[in-house]
Amino acid sequence: MAHQIKDYWQNYIDGKWVDGDAGGRIEIENPATATKLCEIAEARASDVDKAVAAARRAFESRVLSDMRPSARGQLMQDISRHFTEMADEIALAECLDNGKSLAGGKNEALAAARYFSYYGGAADKLEGKMIPLGAGYVDYTIPAPFGVSAQIVPWNFPLQIAARSVACAIATGNTVVLKSPEISPLSVAMLAEACDRAGVPAGCVNVICGYGQDAGAAMVSHNDIDHIVFTGSLATGRSILHAAAERVIPSVMELGGKSAGIVYADADLEQAASSTATGIFSHAGQVCSAQSRLIVHRSVHDEVVDRLAEKAKALTIGPGIDGCDLGPLISAPQRDKVEGFALAGSQSGANAVTGGRRVADLPGHFMQPTVFTGVTPDMTIAQEEIFGPVIAVLPFDDDEEAIQIANGTDFGLVAGVYTKDLDRAHQTADRLTAGQIFVNEWFAGGVETPFGGTKRSGYGREKGQEALLNYVQTKNVAIKLGSGAGGRPGG
Ligand code: NAD
Repeated sequence: MAHQIKDYWQNYIDGKWVDGDAGGRIEIENPATATKLCEIAEARASDVDKAVAAARRAFESRVLSDMRPSARGQLMQDISRHFTEMADEIALAECLDNGKSLAGGKNEALAAARYFSYYGGAADKLEGKMIPLGAGYVDYTIPAPFGVSAQIVPWNFPLQIAARSVACAIATGNTVVLKSPEISPLSVAMLAEACDRAGVPAGCVNVICGYGQDAGAAMVSHNDIDHIVFTGSLATGRSILHAAAERVIPSVMELGGKSAGIVYADADLEQAASSTATGIFSHAGQVCSAQSRLIVHRSVHDEVVDRLAEKAKALTIGPGIDGCDLGPLISAPQRDKVEGFALAGSQSGANAVTGGRRVADLPGHFMQPTVFTGVTPDMTIAQEEIFGPVIAVLPFDDDEEAIQIANGTDFGLVAGVYTKDLDRAHQTADRLTAGQIFVNEWFAGGVETPFGGTKRSGYGREKGQEALLNYVQTKNVAIKLGSGAGGRPGG
């Protein structure tokens, strides 16, 4: 069956669809077939200038921040409705430019809809407080927007990540310049379309596509941005933080992970194996919170590994559009990188119980689902984010050792525990260094639950009510009533 997607996509600046200033275009590939899919206008520094200027004008006009918060919330509910209406189109785009299944692509659209309805509902519930100063004074706080929020998203879940950040920004009265990932930008262009259809005032949400080292770098070092939300790799996060430091710009950093699930001997082993398979093989492991390490009690090690390997072997590999379980990696370099990690794992003495190589007989960028045993904590495959369907299994003998191994990387995004013992689950959750802990189900949680890293996985939280606090700064208003003489010493 032929699936049509338009040949050329534009950027969205100041409420208009526009080409790049320099007329350049970026070619978008279908990773499942390694063929050209379409083109998108390439934004460069001069386009960034225009987008930031539009966002600045919109912010200074106060069109969002002066709007009654309930009306802002209603506008966001309208955007949400458009995502739902566009779900099939979005699903196809995510399938073709990102390698997801149609169901996975639809989930992106519905998650985006949910973010806008969730934060739309919060737009009129963000309150300041009154601070008692005694007779003759009134003092209160205002959760004030920062201004122009510069947002940069990665390619793995581009739409839902963009949606969670843009929704928070709009709910709190900020305006946005969003850069989509140059490798999978189509669903983010559809975010602009949803905003346009809902009647978001011109300039409040600007969406551009450009290369990271060019448009991305120009955005985060721009003189007229007030706030940065970055979701992506540790290396890029570091370089963005240098730019942010120059102008003392507040930043939310959602970076990588090397997340571990601990399986205690008393766990439901089928549940643990099944949840682990979901944790590592969903979207071919291209998930920041993937369960890329399995730390399993030695007494149940072989049984859990057998069950996991069985599930890996049962996965059908191929294009998501054909309903296969395991889709492609996003690009040839990404596939090469993941395969390189697997080869290095074998060379360092780990044993690929299943997988370990690329899928050579398919045209797209597919990697076999891979389970490594015999892994020691110091190995590269136990330390570095691979971002592919590769899991490192490490045995342990006592609880303390399990926690040490789990906490023994530079990252701390999420972690998990499999056990039937509630005390043990609580105690382990308390000891694990990560922003979110899953008990007995990897990826438990949702739009409502705060998400973000510790250590080199970043800081700040997205999702949940807590995320809104990253998009406002407290302004205090201290009022002296009447015309009495004098004042109190300030602080
Ligand atoms: P990446 O860092 O290569 O790119 C992310 C974005 O940054 C892209 O839009 C890219 O164009 C842009 N960029 C690149 N260089 C830049 C620069 N110098 N200045 C400004 N922008 C620049 O990451 P990726 O490969 O697209 O995504 C995968 C990474 O993202 C993984 O590490 C993954 O764990 C992480 N991630 C984190 C979360 C989270 O919520 N913590 C979610 C998804 C992905």
